[in-house]
Amino acid sequence: DAPPAAPLVSLANRAALVTGAGSGLGRASAERLAAAGAFVGLLDLKREDVAEVAAAIRGAGGRCECLEADVSDKVSLRPVIERFANQAGRLDVVYANAGINGVWAPIADLEPEEWDHTFAVNLKGTFLTVKYALPWLKERGGSVIVCASVNGTRVFSNTGSTAYSCSKAGQVAFVKMTALELASHRIRVNAIIPGAIMTPIFDKTVERNVDSEKPHVEYLDGRIPLTDGAPGDPRDVANAVLYLASDLSSHVTGAEIVVDGGESLMQ
Ligand code: NAD
Repeated sequence: DAPPAAPLVSLANRAALVTGAGSGLGRASAERLAAAGAFVGLLDLKREDVAEVAAAIRGAGGRCECLEADVSDKVSLRPVIERFANQAGRLDVVYANAGINGVWAPIADLEPEEWDHTFAVNLKGTFLTVKYALPWLKERGGSVIVCASVNGTRVFSNTGSTAYSCSKAGQVAFVKMTALELASHRIRVNAIIPGAIMTPIFDKTVERNVDSEKPHVEYLDGRIPLTDGAPGDPRDVANAVLYLASDLSSHVTGAEIVVDGGESLMQ
């Protein structure tokens, strides 16, 4: 018998950092990257946030490390990234995923401190994560993946998300600028643009906007053509993260990969 073919997508011997790995899209992506063979740094605000994810990864035979830091705080973030990269001996993939909705309110009611907080986590957090990972990424080249949102690329009729949307639009600009800046180091930088995906953050969005028996379906109001209105699954995003993390996307940089079941087509 011929030996089994090597898997098409393998991250064996690669190290990947995932921020916001304790929940939702970060969790699903961390599990995918680990299943493809990567040693994964699971970063979240508290170590206990990622304990369950680490147990699931190790239970499936994967390798990971629990990391505790706030992505908006350079004092907390920098040493944690450095320690993980030193432990792994390399860093190949960075998935800047940690994000918050922040306060959704008309700008007349939104406090400047609330605006700042949303930007600190979503946009500055992305900048800091990539900045402190750079020395290792530069050693061999690598892949940076930033989780933005359809909220940053189109306008929704339910207003109130201006701070969130601007922070997400900023992430897309960050991706384009750094893709160009880092190309000569063979570092690819791409954005994932998720639509509505079933995670705690999306639950909060729905709760804020509709009060009904079937809030998710009502909120989406037939806006997702591919699934007859149902939100996406975190694994839909994780598969796109895996593609961007792997050599399958070796000629892709500065791209926006939209994972929204066609939601953005339904203006
Ligand atoms: P989630 O709330 O389930 O998970 C976010 C994780 O990030 C949590 O574990 C949280 O503890 C962590 N986190 C928050 N602030 C942090 C900080 N300062 N430092 C470190 N970790 C922090 O949300 P999710 O839906 O998985 O969202 C992940 C990303 O996807 C976010 O950037 C979000 O804006 C984006 N997104 C989500 C959707 C959706 O529908 N779920 C759609 C578009 C974009």
